[in-house]
Amino acid sequence: MFADLHLHSRYSDGTYAPEEIVLRAGQFGLAALSLTDHDTVEGCPEAAAACLAKGLEFIPGVELTAELRGHELHLLAYYIDIHHEPLIKALAQYQVARQNRIREMVSRLNRLGVPLVAETVFNLAKCRSPGRPHVGRALVHCGYCYDLDEAFELFLKKNRPAWVPKYRVSATDLIQLIHGAGGLVVMAHPGLNHYDEAIPELVEAGLDGLECFHTKHTPDLVEFYLKTATEFRLLITGGSDCHGLGKGSPAMGSVRLPLAYLEPLRAWVAKRGYRQRLAPQTVVLPLNQAAGFAPNPAPMLKHSN
Ligand code: AMP
Ligand code: FE
Ligand code: FE
Ligand code: ZN
Repeated sequence: MFADLHLHSRYSDGTYAPEEIVLRAGQFGLAALSLTDHDTVEGCPEAAAACLAKGLEFIPGVELTAELRGHELHLLAYYIDIHHEPLIKALAQYQVARQNRIREMVSRLNRLGVPLVAETVFNLAKCRSPGRPHVGRALVHCGYCYDLDEAFELFLKKNRPAWVPKYRVSATDLIQLIHGAGGLVVMAHPGLNHYDEAIPELVEAGLDGLECFHTKHTPDLVEFYLKTATEFRLLITGGSDCHGLGKGSPAMGSVRLPLAYLEPLRAWVAKRGYRQRLAPQTVVLPLNQAAGFAPNPAPMLKHSN
C-alpha cells in the first residue's frame, strides 16, 4: 500500500479538481494522500470528503514559499488545522501577493508588446492562488505562445523578461507559523533547490522532515536524502508533485511512498494532539466558480469550530 503526499489541484496551479485527484489516486492504488496546493488550503475539505467516500486516508497540506539567506525554498506543511486564524491570514497575504505578481507579469508582457490582459489570466485561473503556469496558459490561450514550454522559455522562467520574484516568508517564521497551526514542516524537493547547506539551519529552526522521494529525484538523490534524514532524525516523506495535465503527462503514480513511512508522521501528530477540523460544511467557497471569483478577497475560509 502506498501514499502520495505532494499533489496540486485547480485551487492552485494543478489542472484537476480535488475529487478528480482522489478518483485517480484510487485508480493508482494509493491508500493515502495529501493535497499540497501552493499557498491555499481551500481544496482540503473537498479532498477530505472524497477520500472519506473512497476509503482513502487524507492528510491536509499546503506548500509555501520560504526564504533562507536569499535562497528560495519550498516548505510542505502537513496535518495543519486549516481553520487556524494566523495561518489563514498568512495564506491570504500569500494569495494577494500572487495576484499582484500576476498583474506585474502582465505589465511586463505589455511593455514587451504582448497585449495580454490580467483579467484573462484570472478568468482562466479561477483561483485565489494564481501562478506562472496560469500566465503561460493565458499566453497560449490567446495565441501569443505556441505552448506552455515556449511561454516559460520566452517570458516566465527565472530571469526571463516577464519573470517576477515570488513573495516569500522567512523560513524560521514560516516554521513557527506551521507549528502554531499544529502542523509539521517538511522541506520540499531538496534535490531541486541545490541548497542542502540550509538543512542544518532549518533543523535548528524546527524542521520536522525531508521530502526524500520526489518525481525529479534520481535514485542517487533519494539515497542521499534518506541518509540525511536519518542523520538529522527527520521524518521521511515523498510525493509526485503532480500538477495534472499542466506539464505534459500527469506525474501521479511516479512516486509511491510505502505506507510504513506514514507511521512516524502519525506518531508525531498523536504526540502533538492534532485536532482534525475538516468538516466539508465549514468551508463555504464553491469550487472555481468564475462568477463568485474576485481577486484580492478577504480570507476565504470561514472560521468555525
Ligand atoms: P510560481 O509558483 O508562480 O512561481 O510557478 C511555479 C510553478 O510553475 C511550478 O510549481 C510548476 O508548476 C510550474 N513550472 C515551472 N517551470 C515550468 C516550465 N518550464 N514549464 C511548465 N511549468 C513550469
Ligand atoms: Fe506548482
Ligand atoms: Fe515546489
Ligand atoms: Zn509542488
